Amino acid sequence: MKVWLARTSDYDSKTLEKVEELLNAYDGPLSFKCHAAIMDDSIITKGYIIPDKAMNAITKFRKEQKIDSSDFFCLYTNTRFSNNFFTHGDGHRNFIIHSGDWGIYTNAGNIFPDSYLLYSNILKSFIYKDYETMYEHLHQDDSLGCYMDLCADKREILLKLRTGDICDKCLDDIQKEHLDGRLLGQILDAFEGLRKQLLFRNRLEIETRLSRIEIIKGKFILIDYGNIELNFSPVRKAIYKLFLESENGYTFAEILGQEKRLLELYKSFQPNKTVEELSSTLNLICDPHAMRIHEEISKINAEIVKKLGERVSVNYIISGERGEKRKVNYKAN
Ligand SMILES: [Zn+2]
Repeated sequence: MKVWLARTSDYDSKTLEKVEELLNAYDGPLSFKCHAAIMDDSIITKGYIIPDKAMNAITKFRKEQKIDSSDFFCLYTNTRFSNNFFTHGDGHRNFIIHSGDWGIYTNAGNIFPDSYLLYSNILKSFIYKDYETMYEHLHQDDSLGCYMDLCADKREILLKLRTGDICDKCLDDIQKEHLDGRLLGQILDAFEGLRKQLLFRNRLEIETRLSRIEIIKGKFILIDYGNIELNFSPVRKAIYKLFLESENGYTFAEILGQEKRLLELYKSFQPNKTVEELSSTLNLICDPHAMRIHEEISKINAEIVKKLGERVSVNYIISGERGEKRKVNYKAN
């Protein structure tokens, strides 16, 4: 059973290839294939797709492209539908899926929901004889996390995808149809597999996404980690800021050459002290024989590791090999 994947010009071909790969990752009678032709923009009216009109265009397209009537056909688009739905089918193995806006709800990208919706549409088409019957069976009032939930917003589709579930009533409907076990197996494996991948991606995002550092009233605040503060003394603030400002970092010898900037920064964090007082502190720290700069940097790093943990702090500490430049991997954009 072939399933053709097509796109409008606003849906990227590379993304469609990723969706194809994801869909084909589950064994069974359904095989998915990107169609080379692009659906032309005549189905877009005043910036919207009118679903019924699009279905007519798809029927025509299938004829032109000599697509077998037993094949499925799914059009992906980033253009909204005039009725605000996210997916539509005509009961004749044709679907259209609106892929836009996922970025608001998930960092995992659109390929998981785009793939899930197609598998879910295909299952519905086997269980309910036509689009109207299917629509009547949708869970209109509550989101149960079931594939038959009518989703009013994309968050609810993500809920379905996260649960990957089918409620008891819908399971009954599925049992009654005595579907080919391999086909049902493929679809259920896909629900489960896509669910796991989405959750894994989301977790990975949470763990590795870096927070911006902002200096707010003289404090170093990680604004995307719930406003965690890196608590540094004024001189450490000056040193850390010096490294944040530098693209390539400094060797210890080069830090000594940055006295002027270091003093400006120090003054900005310690405005009540005189330049002489500040200079004498800096001279002690930067004294090439004492090398107290090592100690200050290791105190800075200790505070970062304490607040952020080993894994995340790698991006924020002042690091570098012996004798090499030291730098902060995090870069403010
Ligand atoms: Zn259900």
